[in-house]
Amino acid sequence: MSSWKTSLLCTAFEPRQFPPEGFPEIAIAGRSNVGKSSLLNALIGQKTAHVSSKPGKTRSINFFRVETEIPFHLVDLPGYGFASRSKTEQEVWKRLIERYLVNRESLALIVHLVDFRHGLLKNDRELQDWVSSMEIPMLTVFTKIDKIARGKRKGELVKYVKSGLKSIDMPILTSAEDKTGIDELRGFFGSYLAE
Ligand code: GDP
Repeated sequence: MSSWKTSLLCTAFEPRQFPPEGFPEIAIAGRSNVGKSSLLNALIGQKTAHVSSKPGKTRSINFFRVETEIPFHLVDLPGYGFASRSKTEQEVWKRLIERYLVNRESLALIVHLVDFRHGLLKNDRELQDWVSSMEIPMLTVFTKIDKIARGKRKGELVKYVKSGLKSIDMPILTSAEDKTGIDELRGFFGSYLAE
């Protein structure tokens, strides 16, 4: 599980650029600046995903092909909730994501990234409600846990779970910085796809 062979399959700005259906897909969603590119880089084990210097600038959906025992696509959804983004831009974001989420037969799982320091903010809850109304399985994964002292992590997690986050399994705590939870997340993907 320690290394994945990965390649960028395609970058889609509109639905007709999505690759053909077939391989199971695991899509990663989260607010801008949540640490999505960093986590993708940690998962992929190379600098395939671009770590943005400007939060929220990514507008495309990136499809990565991952060669594991069960090959699958890792799908990088554009981040949401970037404060200075206009209403129109937010609408464009929503339309692209919606076209992907609503119609994608191959979509097996959405991984929702949430910053462990902040928990679920208003637009995170909106995304969770939206995804669950479409009955798409979703796993919550916390990012940047290195920023919270070890002794406080369990208490925070319990608090977040009690506050009603939606997740098909116990949320996984990760850090792209010290690589906590990366192998656990890979392992989760492997067993989920094998089910
Ligand atoms: P994205 O906008 O969601 O793709 O977020 P990025 O991956 O670009 O990360 C946003 C900022 O958070 C960058 O300054 C990263 O260095 C930082 N960051 C990302 N992951 C971690 C983490 O696990 N720990 C810490 N301490 N910082 C992180």
